[in-house]
Amino acid sequence: MKLSTFWQRVTRKRKNRKTGRDVINRGTANSAPNIINRNEHALSRKEMSEHALKVLYRLKKARYESFLVGGGVRDLLLGLHPKDFDVATNATPEQVRKLFGNCRLIGRRFRLAHVHFGREIIEVATFRASHDQAGGEGVTRDGMIVRDNVYGTLEDDAWRRDFTVNALYYNIYDFSIVDYTGGLNDIENKVIRIIGDATERLQEDPVRMLRAVRFAAKLNFKIEESLSASIKKNIHLLDGVPVARLFEEVLKLFLHGHALASYELLKEYDLLKHLFAQTAEHLDEAGDKFITQALINTDLRIKQKKPIAPAFLYAALLWPAVRYQTKKLKQEDLSLLQVYQIAGQDVLEKQLKQILIPKRFGIPMREIWTMQARLASRKGKRPLKLLPHPRFRASYDFLLLREQSGETQLKELCDWWTTIQTVDEEQQLIMCKNVSSGKKKNKRKKTFKNNKSKTS
Ligand code: ATP
Ligand code: MG
Repeated sequence: MKLSTFWQRVTRKRKNRKTGRDVINRGTANSAPNIINRNEHALSRKEMSEHALKVLYRLKKARYESFLVGGGVRDLLLGLHPKDFDVATNATPEQVRKLFGNCRLIGRRFRLAHVHFGREIIEVATFRASHDQAGGEGVTRDGMIVRDNVYGTLEDDAWRRDFTVNALYYNIYDFSIVDYTGGLNDIENKVIRIIGDATERLQEDPVRMLRAVRFAAKLNFKIEESLSASIKKNIHLLDGVPVARLFEEVLKLFLHGHALASYELLKEYDLLKHLFAQTAEHLDEAGDKFITQALINTDLRIKQKKPIAPAFLYAALLWPAVRYQTKKLKQEDLSLLQVYQIAGQDVLEKQLKQILIPKRFGIPMREIWTMQARLASRKGKRPLKLLPHPRFRASYDFLLLREQSGETQLKELCDWWTTIQTVDEEQQLIMCKNVSSGKKKNKRKKTFKNNKSKTS
């Protein structure tokens, strides 16, 4: 196979060149990189996005250094399709903007150029030095980086990246791969290794814990021991991350086809508590089964290239907490709808303190939850009004998931809603009549019984 011959070649070559120096996790600049020439690796331009190549070539034409970096290189080496392509250069964001008409500069903490080609965005980052080379500027008292705009060399840039497997550069000048941090070795051994001192790097940016989990889940790699130990010791740092940033990171964990593996790792590392405290607190067997099933379906839909609604995903991840609240509220004198409305609102409000879920997702999440009460009541012709509701499909899927995960007494309800979607209007009316009259009959029976017992 192409990839394995590539590895044989690289390993042989690297052994021949062995200097005996340990280049992995050196954490500071000034060491010779491992350079793998174009004929020693199988990374081909044919597999790269034409837009990324356009950007790389234009930077080269303007005499700037120009490399493909990050997930693009890592995933292609592993025979995967990269989600996006990132470019690194010595041109400043302003210089990049001058080269491309379709370019926007974004970010404060990390200033980047986005070059737009229809729906595809190529992210162009200027080489950066580590924050200590900037004399501590842009760093909070507890070591968190809040601004990261100190430009540096290719080598500086390699050492300030997060993991070794993400710090491989494909050089558009000679098509070689440049490896400063030992990323090739780690790809070969399937290891997620942080560059530099684990605790220091996690303090700088605690989101790297979630990124480690995400890449381990996506690539089926092992998290290297010192990183693993450091995550366990430093999970509390996640609480200091801006809640808006966490929203995006959580979506990345769950919306790229590896949701279940990510969830398992979040539980293993006790990270769930720092993202969804209420879920972690009320996660019983049924709740865990529910989330697991929801994530299996999410991964499957992504494989089938079907869309995923972030609202459904977040609604599912918080369901154990909502369910717990509804159970508590049912003991009070409230209608079923009120129970679900209050529970949903309460859980969402508390959740917003951990992750900033935008309103455009928060509103449909609450609708999915309250629809669970509406789907259960089926009074008169009400079900017919629910069928065309924009949130009906998601809420019905949600109900089926609840049944599948072992919530009791939902089988008849699920079957009823499944059938009503397949029959004509006349039949639908009969079905509605039947549930309503079925309930009345029972009521009458009860009253009769009560009267009888009163008289006897
Ligand atoms: P994917 O795009 O498949 O999610 P990726 O590795 O390309 O994975 P991006 O978020 O696109 O991840 O970031 C691109 C690159 O930028 C990374 O590979 C890494 O080198 C660097 N990077 C991103 N986030 C961080 C971070 N928090 N700390 C250090 N380096 C980072
Ligand atoms: Mg990327």
